Amino acid sequence: MSRIAAKPPRESVVDRFLRYVRVETQSKEEASTVPSTPAQWTLARMLVEELRDLGAENVRISEHCMVYATLPPNVPTNDRLPPIGFLAHVDTSPAVTGLNVNPIVHRNYQGGDIVLPNDPTQVISVAQNPVLNDLIGDDIITTDGTTLLGSDDKAGVATIMTLVDLLRENPDIEHGPISIGFTADEEVGIGIEKFDVAEFGAAYAYTIDGGTLGEISDETWSARLATVTFGGKSTHPGTAKGVMVNSIYALAEYVLQIPRDMVPETTEGRIGFVHPYIGTADVETSSIKILLRDFEMTGLAAKEELLRRIAVETEKKYPGVSIRIDVKDNYKNMREVLKDHPQLVENALEAARRAGLDPFMEPIRGGTDGSKLTFRGLPCPNVFTGGHNFHSKLEFNSRRGLEKTTETLVHLVQIFVERARGDGQFVTQHSSSRVAAD
Ligand SMILES: [Zn+2]
Repeated sequence: MSRIAAKPPRESVVDRFLRYVRVETQSKEEASTVPSTPAQWTLARMLVEELRDLGAENVRISEHCMVYATLPPNVPTNDRLPPIGFLAHVDTSPAVTGLNVNPIVHRNYQGGDIVLPNDPTQVISVAQNPVLNDLIGDDIITTDGTTLLGSDDKAGVATIMTLVDLLRENPDIEHGPISIGFTADEEVGIGIEKFDVAEFGAAYAYTIDGGTLGEISDETWSARLATVTFGGKSTHPGTAKGVMVNSIYALAEYVLQIPRDMVPETTEGRIGFVHPYIGTADVETSSIKILLRDFEMTGLAAKEELLRRIAVETEKKYPGVSIRIDVKDNYKNMREVLKDHPQLVENALEAARRAGLDPFMEPIRGGTDGSKLTFRGLPCPNVFTGGHNFHSKLEFNSRRGLEKTTETLVHLVQIFVERARGDGQFVTQHSSSRVAAD
């Protein structure tokens, strides 16, 4: 059985977290460079210094603000004990300001709504956050109401750094080779392209970038982007009779034919969607961009087929309008690869159980760095951090959230050693997916 750390870390995970969230690291949409903002360097460089102080090896930072480090194994290794990676992103979402984050610790929470002190209109209510009922007696960490918190993903950063700290302080905790990676620009989707999988050196990895305690994900959307372009014919409106073909009507007709039960506003759980989200309207040429999302490739193909069928019908109804659809793949459901590596999820579930949690599987209605890495040869499920309400002023985490996530990582590295030795006799009953059970 794995051990818990007998000696505390040099710095508690909560103190680390409070220190990191105060460092501004917002990324920016539509930048052409990685990192998209210079601010991200500050935290990345701090982490390099701290990793060196904690005795990590090969600590380095790339020209794109990617931090890499390794921890050498303290047990004999073989093929059955591959290098395991842990990843978190340093940037925070551009959706809400992350400048001058002032974290507030609500000690020994006793229930009820939490009003954020510097903007009383910002309220974390029990009605909208029933998870608060599980946090009685915990120390809840919120913002002051004027910024996001940045638990996404400084909780991941702080728990991984505390793992490194704990392994140094507790050399009796057995582990194989470990790779540590901190990435930039996750929130704007461009950073991971600059992450060097070979340089990282892990055979498998976990992104520590999830939500509710116990939530483990090996599924993301399969995602495509359709651009539908409507060609009409422009003339002076004064002499347009019988000549003008206004593509705007075809665009309007097209969008209205998308079934209402197939859009983000009406879907949840495992149900995918079609989402027209931005476009331009002009007599001569109109266009609309549409997101296609589904957990199954067959479902995704059916959605693309639907868009093409609507195009044919719209063309019939609007003579003179030509419709073109361009579809490109964005990313794929990582389960297509992860299903061949079931031990990754099994080990994470077991680690969470040993930390006293009741783990469950939850598909991610989005993409992660891990979904891209998985298809680049680094199978990479996602693990909880204890955080809630990401990308919002109502974002929060808690002492227990951070401590239990760290504890899970400490068990996880030991479980890989147990399995390599062949004494992995723990029970691996598969927790059912909450969504699938609905
Ligand atoms: Zn994140």
